[in-house]
Amino acid sequence: MRIYNYLLLTFLTIFLTGCLSTTTQSGALGVNRSQFMMVPASAMEEGANEAYKKVLSDAKKEDTLNKDVKTLQRLKTIMNNIIPQTAVFRQDAPRWNWEVNLINEDTLNAWCMPGGKIVFYSGIIDRLDLDDDEIAAIMGHEMAHALREHSRERASQDELRNLTLAITQELIGAPGAVMQLADIATYYTFSLPYSREHEREADRIGVELAARAGYNPNSSVKVWEKMGEISTSEPIELLSTHPSNQSRINSLKEDAKKVYVFYERANEGKK
Ligand SMILES: [Zn+2]
Repeated sequence: MRIYNYLLLTFLTIFLTGCLSTTTQSGALGVNRSQFMMVPASAMEEGANEAYKKVLSDAKKEDTLNKDVKTLQRLKTIMNNIIPQTAVFRQDAPRWNWEVNLINEDTLNAWCMPGGKIVFYSGIIDRLDLDDDEIAAIMGHEMAHALREHSRERASQDELRNLTLAITQELIGAPGAVMQLADIATYYTFSLPYSREHEREADRIGVELAARAGYNPNSSVKVWEKMGEISTSEPIELLSTHPSNQSRINSLKEDAKKVYVFYERANEGKK
């Protein structure tokens, strides 16, 4: 019996160690933490696609989808400038089906689902009066969460802890599973606050992505400070899932300095 327990433990250790990996290459700022990944990437992506479709069709019904063509075009240009830079962190990412949509709603929020499905709400752009550098700062940060697959990591941690949601590979084939996966993608992308560690990683990768794409990395500091100011008088949706504090902003200032050279390089010859 003891031997059996020993073998079981050995197998379990081998299995769990096999789930440890890192989703991205470290980039200039050195994000290289090992991540525990048990939930299959295909499950997260399938769920995210379903959830994204639902968000868009709801917005369409409410007649709030992509009403401001000019701003939508700005968002698309910024996204298209950032996409090629994702190769620094993951070889496969430039070929993802990245997508951005603009929902006309007075919400101060933006997010990116697993697989690269982005939404910006008009509220965050209009009320914070965001310029392109600032939009790139937010978009880079959100894209970084997707590149690092933070949602899948959190779902994996919960699965390991045998918490609320049972996600297994078998589930994908079960009737109605697609909706369940969509709920999972929704929950881990924009219901649950990201941990401090995930926020720092998304800051580091995001600021480098924006700089390499030719956007001023100092804007990332400006944008979080702007949000901090407004949040004293009204709730900001984005801050509920992306908790921020002064020490994080200070670290971001240091990061911005380090990647400033990429910004300069990207703009060489443009002037
Ligand atoms: Zn975040």
